[in-house]
Parts: sequence; structure tokens; C-alpha cells
Amino acid sequence: MYGDHKQTTKSKLNYQFQDAGPQEFLSWALKNYENSIVLANSLSAEDTTILHICSKISKNFRVFILDTGRLHEESLQFLEECRSYYKIPIQIYFPQAEDVEAMVQKKGLFSFYESISNRKECCHIRKVKPLQRALKGANAWITGLRREQSDGRKEIERVEWDEANGGLWKLNPLLSWSWERVLEFVSENKLPFHPLHKKSYPSIGCQPCTRAVKDKEELRSGRWWWESSGNKECGLHEKT
Ligand code: SF4
Repeated sequence: MYGDHKQTTKSKLNYQFQDAGPQEFLSWALKNYENSIVLANSLSAEDTTILHICSKISKNFRVFILDTGRLHEESLQFLEECRSYYKIPIQIYFPQAEDVEAMVQKKGLFSFYESISNRKECCHIRKVKPLQRALKGANAWITGLRREQSDGRKEIERVEWDEANGGLWKLNPLLSWSWERVLEFVSENKLPFHPLHKKSYPSIGCQPCTRAVKDKEELRSGRWWWESSGNKECGLHEKT
């Protein structure tokens, strides 16, 4: 558990920004963590929204995506669309080749379907370790997490301390937005929109582990759909 000082700062900031919209909060964050703040972009509508807002405020931040090697072709095409639209360098982090080779040689290319521990191992190698490299040296990172996305995300706060990923601030500017509000913002601002969102994928991950959802299903229920219960996260957003 982290110390009292971090806890006090977190409480103070969450109180200070409790009614702030994403623009106000991100203006503060980009100024406060100038040149040491990174935006994790999963190519979702949430992240294109945040990237749009940030790019109107400052250029003093980094943007990265994690290419796990198992993304949809549509995601790779959309990444290129985002690169030319935003005109901001988007860094791409890949898993370490030797980690992937060792896992695949031992367990095959679809080990994640066999058990939760295999699935978590794959997410750790392809997502968590590259994330930790992407966050190295940063004092804060920005995510597109929203409370509405799943039961496991209902308790997220605007400002959190992320000990699991090396000890830095984690900022969730869209935490209270609904999916409809995100779609409205994307449409109002004519932002690029991932083609799979149009095909009933509100949450997009790796191709073998994501499917479309039906009306009224939880927004993240298409992720690791074969796992029946529990907190379906890939390890990027571990609670500490
Ligand atoms: S989502 Fe699936 S393919 Fe992607 S890293 Fe996790 S287990 Fe591996």
C-alpha cells in the first residue's frame, strides 16, 4: 500500500476536480505534469476523444499504443488513420520477441482459451510488460476508463496512484461519461471512429479475445467472452 502523502494528494485532487469536465481536468494535468505525462491510446472512441482534447491544449505529452501482435487488421488500419488525422507521433510498443517465442513454443498460439492463468500470462507478456516500458520515466498516465464500462470499473476515481505499473499517477478524465456521451463528442467533432465500433464492438482488444456484444449486454462483455465470471481485466489496470 502506498503512503499517507500519496493518499492525501489523491483525495485532495479528487475533491478539487470532482465537478470538472475533461477539458478542465486535462488542462490542469498537462500543465502540472508537462513533458512527463503519457496518454495510453487503445484506438477506442474514449481515447480518440481524449487525444483530441489534449491536442487542443498542449503538445507536451506522449501518446502510445500497445501492438500485441494479435490486433484486428481494422485496428492497424485505424491506427494509420489516426496518425494522419492528429499529426502527432504515436509511439508503438510491441512485446519482447523472446517472451512471445517462449510462450508460443511451449503452449501454442491459442493458449489463452485453455485457462485463466494462460490468458493472464499472454496479457502480461503482450500488454502489461510493454505498458511498463511505455510508462517508464513518466509521472502520470491518462486512460479512457469509464465507470459505466463494467462492474469492476464502477469504483474508479479521477486520480489514482498506480503502484502496480511502477508508481505514478493515473488519470481517468472520462470516468463519469456514458457511452452515448462519448459517441456524441466523436460525432460533434467529426473525429476518426474505429470501424469495429460500428459493428457492435464497444470495447476492442485483441482479435481472438474480442467479439461483438448484443443490446443490453455489459459494454465489456465481448472481451474474453468464454470466461464466465470475475474481474475480466488484462492486468493493465490492476488495483494496488
Ligand atoms: S487479449 Fe488475448 S491475445 Fe491479447 S494479450 Fe490478452 S490473452 Fe493475449
